[in-house]
Amino acid sequence: MTLRGRSALVTGSTSGIGLAIARSLAGEGANVMINGFGDREETVRVCRAIAEKYSVEVDYDDADLSVADGAVGLVARTQERFAQLDILVNNAGIQYVAPVEEFPADRWDAVIAINLSAAFHTMRAAIPGMRAARWGRIINVASAHGLVASAHKVAYVAAKHGLIGATKVAAIELANDAITVNAICPGWVLTPLVERQLADRAREGGTDVARESTKLLEEKQPMHQFTTPESIGAMAVFLCSDAAATITGAPLSIDGGWVAQ
Ligand code: NAD
Repeated sequence: MTLRGRSALVTGSTSGIGLAIARSLAGEGANVMINGFGDREETVRVCRAIAEKYSVEVDYDDADLSVADGAVGLVARTQERFAQLDILVNNAGIQYVAPVEEFPADRWDAVIAINLSAAFHTMRAAIPGMRAARWGRIINVASAHGLVASAHKVAYVAAKHGLIGATKVAAIELANDAITVNAICPGWVLTPLVERQLADRAREGGTDVARESTKLLEEKQPMHQFTTPESIGAMAVFLCSDAAATITGAPLSIDGGWVAQ
């Protein structure tokens, strides 16, 4: 177990990729703060199961990251709970799909707040503790949409491009403090975020989810398969390892060849 004694905060970890990252970090011995929305009882049950399986401490905080105070408070409570915060994973994210001229302004604000500004606020709050400890890992879950665009995703694409920019700046500033800052850029991963898009497409096109899944993959990825949340968890663990000590400021694709084209 390479992360025994380390403490991690994974935002948006009640579901999908974030939950898989939290499990993977716990599997390496890290204590983990889970965050996000959903059924509180179920989340508390999941936290307990992870804690027991890996003999680590796991806690849950339902801070709302759409506001700065939510992000800052979450970091402070995690530091208090575990005495330190060594690994920050900014993963919480939402999607909204519409052409630019029809994109509701409040959806733009929400996507930018959760997918981009929250990561700024948590990094800003977490960095002083990491500097003092002279060790840290910051992992920002961006997207293939942080590197290339698609129609109808103006806020998401802008936020993810911005997140990669912020990742690079923080990486440069922290380069000699033993703190690395990287962005993971997944292609399609079958999670509730994508399942909702598939259901919408099936309804609008009069098709079904299975057919839309195939079309979605074929449209964007040379490799016609979803990346699993567990693979992204494994990538996060690698970025926390000693072998990854000099990987910093990098947008790292795990996307079935999406951005190779
Ligand atoms: P998901 O919908 O399964 O999970 C999103 C998580 O964010 C949930 O835990 C949710 O409760 C939380 N969240 C949403 N709004 C929040 C708020 N205001 N405050 C706190 N938590 C909030 O989605 P996912 O697919 O697992 O996405 C995780 C990340 O991965 C996102 O940043 C997403 O953009 C990115 N991503 C996903 C894919 C994909 O294909 N699924 C591809 C590339 C990038």
